[in-house]
Amino acid sequence: MALEKNENFFELTDENDRASAIEAQFNEDALENARRKTLPETNPDFDGLHCIECDEKIPAARLKLGKIRCVECQTVIEKQGKFFAG
Ligand SMILES: [Zn+2]
Repeated sequence: MALEKNENFFELTDENDRASAIEAQFNEDALENARRKTLPETNPDFDGLHCIECDEKIPAARLKLGKIRCVECQTVIEKQGKFFAG
């Protein structure tokens, strides 16, 4: 009886540890994603003025944010979910 209780106790503890570990990993991933999202993008094709996708001139306000695509292309890419695909 006592042994059974102990076993259950360790099982629960292990499960909690695993959940914590997964949660910590998830938080790290979320932080990393958030960090990437705020970092200015770079691209060898970017000339500092024009969208790398369609060559439209990017508004100065966007350039200051480190954007390398016009609003339209950025929206399309984010909808496709390829923004971080590399
Ligand atoms: Zn564009």
